[in-house]
Amino acid sequence: MTDTPQGFDTLAIHAGTEADPATGARQVPIYQTTAYVFRDADHAAALFGLQEVGYIYSRLTNPTIGALQNRIAALEGGAGAVCCSSGHAAQIMSLFPLMAPGRNIVASTRLYGGTITQFSQTFKRFGWSCTFVDFDDLDAVKAAIDDDTRAIFCETIANPGGYITDLDAVAAIADEAGIPLIVDNTTATPYLCRPIDHGATLVVHSLTKYMTGNGTVTGGVVVDSGKFDWSASDKFPSLSQPEPAYHGLTFHETFGPAAFTFHGIAIGLRDLGMTMNPQGAHYTLMGIETLSLRMEKHIANAKKIAAWLEGHEAVSGVTYAGLDSSPYKDRIPKICPKGAGALFTVQLKGGYDACMKFVAGLNLFSHVANLGDARSLVIHPASTTHRQLTEEQQIAAGASPDTVRLSIGIEDAEDLIADLDQALKAAG
Ligand SMILES: *Cc1c(COP(=O)(O)O)cnc(C)c1O
Repeated sequence: MTDTPQGFDTLAIHAGTEADPATGARQVPIYQTTAYVFRDADHAAALFGLQEVGYIYSRLTNPTIGALQNRIAALEGGAGAVCCSSGHAAQIMSLFPLMAPGRNIVASTRLYGGTITQFSQTFKRFGWSCTFVDFDDLDAVKAAIDDDTRAIFCETIANPGGYITDLDAVAAIADEAGIPLIVDNTTATPYLCRPIDHGATLVVHSLTKYMTGNGTVTGGVVVDSGKFDWSASDKFPSLSQPEPAYHGLTFHETFGPAAFTFHGIAIGLRDLGMTMNPQGAHYTLMGIETLSLRMEKHIANAKKIAAWLEGHEAVSGVTYAGLDSSPYKDRIPKICPKGAGALFTVQLKGGYDACMKFVAGLNLFSHVANLGDARSLVIHPASTTHRQLTEEQQIAAGASPDTVRLSIGIEDAEDLIADLDQALKAAG
């Protein structure tokens, strides 16, 4: 072992894990257990008092999930991470310590459709609200922040595709306002972008997508940079002041840079119960081992296919930031120099009807509500994932009725192009 920081590929295989102390098992065992035997009564009391860190009950902590948390924290350059049951759970878990009735967040209009619904509708049940703004208009982002704003939220490479956020510029606005920037890094993965390096405080993921990589798991994670000073203002009392939900413990004072992570486990998972399962954590650990290799192939395929589609007579536009025609091309060297991901949209001249025929005509592409799978996937957002939105919201989100979203897999590009070609012909 040396003190030299290890590279991404080494961390993807080794971070957070060691040979199993009980058996020497090289792979991380699936600790399929609900509870853990305490050594004695003092041990139990110390664990519950958070004086000693250890395993109590798998709603809170589990060794398989713990290994995954440490691995993702290492890959994102964070101080700690908390896994949870889905990407949407991760969003709630990231906001829960920050928010209270009457508080709001400022979020980009370009987000995963389900996230827009969660923020605009379900938030109201908690007394929270969200102001959506165009994150290319930095003055509008600033203007949307008020005394009750507790976070800024955006995606690195925004779903359904083609938009890249200037994370550094948005992080500077968050800093000035004394609030955290939360970045959903699902479609970029830490292989393409580490938002913490660009000033993000918290990073959330749907592990369901590229991180696991083959459509087998529903999972999420919240990564904390450990860099935000929760005590700098009175905005975040659950972290900076005695927390009645944990017998008056002051998380920031007690745990320093690990405060948000401890809060996420001790209060978030304890009371919201959005816990990941050890089997899912195992699959995600396996997936992450090949993350770099897969992302390279995803990107190589996406570049070829986006360029081919752009030249097709039935196509009116392709929103892939990796294309020279993209208005977001200039953000790639700064935000995601290895590539613009493998998720993008294509606009068909034939509009809504042609889109429906195109989707129906594809054979190799699976028509599913998922992305980031080893297999290529397709969906028509306006009639599915973004259906709950108004037409105005659909257009702002890049999901207008003439738009089809493609998630390019790691098959042979030639076969994917042949499938797209015959489906475009069939669509007229
Ligand atoms: C899928 C997705 C989510 C939601 O994740 P789930 O695991 O489905 O809950 C959130 N954000 C983005 C960008 C996604 O792609």
